[in-house]
Amino acid sequence: MKQFRLLAVLVALVGLIGVWAISSSDTPKDKNKDTQTSDQKQNDNDKDADTDSQTAVEGDTTTGSTSSTSTSNGTTNGQNNFVVRSASANTTPPVTPPTPVPQPPVTYPNLVENPSAEAEAGAPSGWLQGGWGTNDRTFSYDQPGRSGGRSLSVSITSHTDGDAKWYFAPVALESGKLYRYSDWYKSDVDTQLLAVVEMADGTIAYYQLGTAFASSDWKQATGSFMMPAGAVSATVFHTLAKVGTLHIDDVSLTEYHPAPLQRALVSLTFDDTLASVYNNALPLLNQYGYSSTQYILTGTIDQPDSMTADMIQAFKDQGHEIAAHTVTHTDLTTLDEASVDAELGGAQADLQTEFGTDAATSFASPYGAYNEAVLAQIKAYYASHRSVDTGLNTLDDFDPYNIKVQNVLATTTPEEVQAWVDQAVATNTWLVLVYHGVEDSVDPAVNPYATTPIDLEAHLNAIEASGVSVVTVGEAVAEITAQQ
Ligand SMILES: [Zn+2]
Repeated sequence: MKQFRLLAVLVALVGLIGVWAISSSDTPKDKNKDTQTSDQKQNDNDKDADTDSQTAVEGDTTTGSTSSTSTSNGTTNGQNNFVVRSASANTTPPVTPPTPVPQPPVTYPNLVENPSAEAEAGAPSGWLQGGWGTNDRTFSYDQPGRSGGRSLSVSITSHTDGDAKWYFAPVALESGKLYRYSDWYKSDVDTQLLAVVEMADGTIAYYQLGTAFASSDWKQATGSFMMPAGAVSATVFHTLAKVGTLHIDDVSLTEYHPAPLQRALVSLTFDDTLASVYNNALPLLNQYGYSSTQYILTGTIDQPDSMTADMIQAFKDQGHEIAAHTVTHTDLTTLDEASVDAELGGAQADLQTEFGTDAATSFASPYGAYNEAVLAQIKAYYASHRSVDTGLNTLDDFDPYNIKVQNVLATTTPEEVQAWVDQAVATNTWLVLVYHGVEDSVDPAVNPYATTPIDLEAHLNAIEASGVSVVTVGEAVAEITAQQ
């Protein structure tokens, strides 16, 4: 009898937990939209050259091709249901749970010919050597490989500018699809991934995918990109742009079907504290009811063409996120540790003193420039880091310290932004748009990073029409982290 009561209590408890698990996992599901990222650059009147790119970088093994992702959500819910039913099975006949149908892992073929770069007739077939600028570069393919007998190596022994790389012959890809690149590499300096996309009209578009930190052991570098409208083929450069040596092997390029977030998200971010953003963007953002993230350069507050403290306060009062972008907008990879610390800690202290302790939890690096040491320092102060690396923020590949973006440039068309939004909605990912100035008249040759209010309104229209949720960077990071 006593045992029976105990059992009943246990059953009730398990039932409660099961119900809670179901409601908590179901709640956030209502809106399934998605986003994708994009990127842009930086601008400003003088120095900003934030380059963009997309994230790529190290370490990711997982993602790849999980088109089974949506299934994994389904499976999780199924298990929750099963817990509840078995808990109440004392009073009602046991309900046979539906037999889970095993989903075979979906794999997508590697589109790179000769991905391990084995030599044929003295040279690796399908591989090309590239480089530009003033540097002494040498190529070889007779090194020990990570797999097979060979890998690809490039060395630079003196460097003024430019880069050097091995790259696979461009392959035909489909517009509107996502692709994921990976390779294994060793290098004694930081290197970069760059997607190189050929358009039907013969022009080339470049998307910086991220930084691969120096590694003496074989390490994986990854990046993803969307083939834009009008694109026909692509390759990926893993570039060496300083004195050093880079080895790569086991290269892969496949279709990418990211694991979906519970809902698609879009964030609107603005860099550099420009007064034009207050004058021309804030009224539009408020009209649409969208909260932005303002990456503030504290050293320019109250300077000509920059926002005043009152303008920044107005953003905060109207629900926008006040984030940090250093004090002086210096490339952090060029500074010593104490100077980096002063840029990071100084900007945060200034912003929190002026705008409250909920300000300055998100950070964006000037010019999108970072390295492993700088990143470690950023982590000591901030909850997230946004560069200008282009790419997707996906559930299977999410790093709050490597937030990928799409950069909105003066030359970016509303159709491109629409395509990024559509992609985010279709894949349930997080799209982060990077803006700089919002100026009535924009000459791309003079201010390549500015946007007009007309274009911004077109972007906001596309976002509104898609129904996707617009959140600040801080909100998105919290929401996605909770799903990991
Ligand atoms: Zn900037």
